[in-house]
Amino acid sequence: MRITGTIVNYFIHCKRQCWLFAHKMNFEDDSEDVRIGRILHEVRSEGRNNTEIQIEGIKVDKMTEDYVIELKKSDADVEATKWQTIYYLYMLKQKGIYRKGRLEFLERKKQTSKTVELELDNLTEVKLIGMLEEIEQYLLQDKPDEAIYAKKCERCAYYAYCYI
Ligand code: SF4
Repeated sequence: MRITGTIVNYFIHCKRQCWLFAHKMNFEDDSEDVRIGRILHEVRSEGRNNTEIQIEGIKVDKMTEDYVIELKKSDADVEATKWQTIYYLYMLKQKGIYRKGRLEFLERKKQTSKTVELELDNLTEVKLIGMLEEIEQYLLQDKPDEAIYAKKCERCAYYAYCYI
């Protein structure tokens, strides 16, 4: 199974969501949160250069001379976004493209934004490779981990599938 940045993100955010998404059980188009995120992304990107770049299966929100930039609608799971972006930096490095990462969180309620900078150093790369192996093993399971209710479930596109 081909790993993607979204799969890496979900593996950190919720292993059950990761498995469901990777096995093509995608309910995200029905989620209001996902639609809001998409609109915010479009508004934020308007008039800017270098928006949404695709390179051999890697789809990043923006790429400049120095940075890969990921735009998110909230900072509810910084760690998941961080590893998603590190995955992109790693995949780009395999293609001879070297960048740092920048996460931009758009706080729609506060009308402000917060940024986090990242770098793919050796230690981070080793951790990522270990994580990718772990993800591959996990996705071989014939069913996902059980749903364990948490606050993050309230806004999850899979809520109905998990609990109703
Ligand atoms: S509803 Fe909760 S347990 Fe189910 S996929 Fe979403 S975050 Fe995971």
